[in-house]
Amino acid sequence: MAELSTLASLGNLPELARQLSGLGGCTHPIRLDGHRTEYAVDTHTGEIGNALHHLDSASLPAGHLLVRCNNRRVTRCPACAEVYRRDTYQLITAGLRGGKGIPDRVAAHPRVFATFTAPGFGPVHNRRTDGRPCRCGTHHQQDDPALGTPLAPDTYDYEAAVLWNAHAGDLWRRFSIYLRREVAKRAGLTQRAFRDHARVSFAKVAEYQKRGAVHFHAVIRLDGPDGGDTPPPPWATADLLSDAIRAAATAARIDGPVIDGRAHTFAFGRQLDVRPIRSADFDGGQELTERAVAAYIAKYATKGAETATGTLDRPVRFLAELAQARITDHARRMIRTAWALGARKDLEHLRLRAWAHMLCFRGHFSTKSRRYSTTLGALRDARAEWRRAQTALPVPQDGETTLVLAHWVFAGTGLTDGEAWLAASLEPAPGTEGEPTHD
Ligand SMILES: [Zn+2]
Ligand SMILES: [Zn+2]
Repeated sequence: MAELSTLASLGNLPELARQLSGLGGCTHPIRLDGHRTEYAVDTHTGEIGNALHHLDSASLPAGHLLVRCNNRRVTRCPACAEVYRRDTYQLITAGLRGGKGIPDRVAAHPRVFATFTAPGFGPVHNRRTDGRPCRCGTHHQQDDPALGTPLAPDTYDYEAAVLWNAHAGDLWRRFSIYLRREVAKRAGLTQRAFRDHARVSFAKVAEYQKRGAVHFHAVIRLDGPDGGDTPPPPWATADLLSDAIRAAATAARIDGPVIDGRAHTFAFGRQLDVRPIRSADFDGGQELTERAVAAYIAKYATKGAETATGTLDRPVRFLAELAQARITDHARRMIRTAWALGARKDLEHLRLRAWAHMLCFRGHFSTKSRRYSTTLGALRDARAEWRRAQTALPVPQDGETTLVLAHWVFAGTGLTDGEAWLAASLEPAPGTEGEPTHD
């Protein structure tokens, strides 16, 4: 409150409120000191004209230029994670039904939604679909924190569970190579010839199951030889694609390390779910629709390990930190195991200690093949363009271009208490309404 009265005494509350509202709710912005000047330049003579726009951080209400943190983790910055989630939704949707530069025809291409699970590492508490109790004798509630945790922690295979996460990304890459091979085989084509006929593109997200094991959800699409712009060949069907996915997922294997005489090998779990995606037009309420798939993938794109296991959302520096951390016993054991394995020279390349807070999955949460859809960068550029249009800065005339001189230095992160209070009292930024969340 003391800070608030200081803010008020400065007499620039409305200006400060306007600057803060530009952050769209970001609570950990990056603060920059410096200036930026935009000049008009005559394209014929090369002559530098008047300054079109000048910005100096000292003249800004907050005393700094504030830039969104763009963190994608809900636990770190809910507002920026929400932007990321919406962008991911747009990206997945464009790959399913066109838009944002992707042709509408992709909606007619064979598309499936597939879930690749982790193998088992020992029995865990679960909710059975047949109405019978868990093996421990309890009917667990949906939000029971015991769900997904081992029935017998002392015999649960923590070593394999941690190493699974560390190898899951490699296993996915192996699978994607096999998939192209399996599709080609079913079309009667060599892999070399396959490229002249069709392309396999995908977008995937990694999700932590309650037991802390990473599994993958993916949209996989079959296109013609030039991706989404070209029609797939007649043999390309959702059935052929599904069949090839099953074969590739079953065959994909990654050799892991040998630890105390035990050779680890990693493969997907037996539960593989592959379903064709229907257009919303054909949906009778039963089918898996484009909207549902996009919402699902987008939702998981903003979640880290912490949402599944209650673990940490930033790196662990010392094992002693775990004593203070508010995490589940299961997550604690995963991290302790990672820490112990991380001391081994032969496992150095897995960087188990650096990624212990992520339960050792160091891959990207959402990835896509190049031809699947537009990019997050393109969506961000479009948004920045829109914002520029809203601020109505003077624009260069015909025959002019602009020269931008800027110099910025990092001045810190976050908001002062007064700024945070003011930011929280602001309405959500306009233009952030859109698709349903499907929670
Ligand atoms: Zn942020
Ligand atoms: Zn149980």
